[in-house]
Amino acid sequence: MKHFVIIGAGECGVRAAFALREKGFEGEVTLIGAEPVTPYERPPLSKAGLADGAEPKFIARFEQYSEQDIRLLTGVTALELEATARNVKLSDGSRLSYDKLLLATGASARSFPGTSENSARIRSLRTHRDAMTLRRVLKPGSHIVIVGGGFIGLEVAATARQLGAEVTVIEGLERVLKRGVPTEIADLVTARHRSEGVVIRCGVSIEAITERDNKASVQLTAGEIVEADLVVVGIGAQPNVDLAAKAGLAVDNGIAVDSHLRTSATEIFAAGDCCSFPYGGRRIRLESWRNAQEQGEIAAANMMGADEIVSSVPWFWSEQYELTLQVTGLADSAVTHLKRDLSNGAFILFHLDVDGRLVAASGVGLGNTVAREIRVAEMLIAARARPASAALTASDVKLKSLLASLG
Ligand SMILES: Cc1cc2nc3c(=O)[nH]c(=O)nc-3n(C[C@H](O)[C@H](O)[C@H](O)COP(=O)(O)OP(=O)(O)OC[C@H]3O[C@@H](n4cnc5c(N)ncnc54)[C@H](O)[C@@H]3O)c2cc1C
Repeated sequence: MKHFVIIGAGECGVRAAFALREKGFEGEVTLIGAEPVTPYERPPLSKAGLADGAEPKFIARFEQYSEQDIRLLTGVTALELEATARNVKLSDGSRLSYDKLLLATGASARSFPGTSENSARIRSLRTHRDAMTLRRVLKPGSHIVIVGGGFIGLEVAATARQLGAEVTVIEGLERVLKRGVPTEIADLVTARHRSEGVVIRCGVSIEAITERDNKASVQLTAGEIVEADLVVVGIGAQPNVDLAAKAGLAVDNGIAVDSHLRTSATEIFAAGDCCSFPYGGRRIRLESWRNAQEQGEIAAANMMGADEIVSSVPWFWSEQYELTLQVTGLADSAVTHLKRDLSNGAFILFHLDVDGRLVAASGVGLGNTVAREIRVAEMLIAARARPASAALTASDVKLKSLLASLG
């Protein structure tokens, strides 16, 4: 009987395991997860899940794994991969042989230089355990400093305010969300945070973060020291590539795969946050929930011999207070953007490249107000459309009509 092994029991690995069964794979499936819990969703960790402080939102019920004959090993780390012999050494002392392997090892939060990962007062946020450590300190009267004004940092800021904590966000660049969205959206988000009392300091660099006597101190380069009950470090994540790199697989800002998610080693695939893949003439790596799911499904299909390629337009969302931000496509090749106003102050920005091609769209609004337009924008991007500027900005022109006009 064939044995497919998946290393990494996060969004991508779990989706791949179930997709193998949905697609009719009858061999053995082993899913190996280093975390000692049933696999869970990460997005709630900075949002409602952090506010509730309850148990994680599980990706699937525990029984579903056995119902689908998926052997789930939790609290077990794959320590060593022998690509030619096709086996994996595990932290429980065992060794597993595989016919095909999927690396879905995800990413780890970057820690601030000089700080310990085990510090109780200086934490990053990637796991449910991290979220529970943060949650204990998020209460009225405590002061939280968030280092990094990216999506996760700002989501934690919003949740911490809702729980009554005082919050200061320190961002090294001149504004928040610099890598994520244009100024118009960042300004609106900043104003919303400030209206809740969050102190946002941009263009401020940090010399050191230290912990002493149940307090953390952030020493700014300019000399000032900001004291906190908790420092949350939100300065991005790095792909977990060690296992692949030690086994001699190609690594290039993530485990390098082709458009079928095949690595440089025979019968080994990689997918989700841990891999970089070809997209629009360059190599990219995404950290997004939908991408992890989609790539998990594609990897499963290709492990079974299909010929599926990664082609979806990237998509990401964030929630802060009652606002939802959505971004689709990649704006790095854009030279300009155009604004379309929607109801209740919501708006969408369409990012166009030098040929007038729509390459990305980003929007912000209450609840789900931007979802439909972003979805249509995604289809226009996939169709490589060059919509007329007037049609994009006119709120009374239905975006869908632009799709229809493409034929
Ligand atoms: C706080 C937070 C909020 C987020 N919010 C959003 C959001 O709003 N919208 C959005 O689109 N995305 C969001 N994301 C990103 C999204 O959750 C990730 O893109 C997604 O979880 C990636 O899934 P993955 O399976 O590729 O990797 P991961 O979820 O990182 O899972 C990888 C798993 O592999 C395990 N592993 C690693 N190495 C080994 C090994 N050697 N042996 C065994 N196990 C191993 C890890 O422990 C981990 O459990 C958020 C992420 C975080 C952390």
